[in-house]
Amino acid sequence: MTLAFLTGYRSAISGLAAAGGPEPHCTSCGGAVGIFLGHAPDWQHFRTGAGDGGLAEVYDTDHAPAIGWRYVPPAIPAR
Ligand SMILES: [Zn+2]
Repeated sequence: MTLAFLTGYRSAISGLAAAGGPEPHCTSCGGAVGIFLGHAPDWQHFRTGAGDGGLAEVYDTDHAPAIGWRYVPPAIPAR
């Protein structure tokens, strides 16, 4: 498994997605996917850390990303 930690990188596609708009995901596994310029020119699975430090971790899977778009419901603040 290859892991890459991308400090300060945001997926190129995130600049195209409007806030509250649909986000890309893998329809095979449900994981987040993005295109990270400077890492690879194609779609990659990635996950972010628990903090909001802008860290994205690209990881390998046993399948190529199957791209779909979904709306993520807004987080409901805890009371
Ligand atoms: Zn997948």
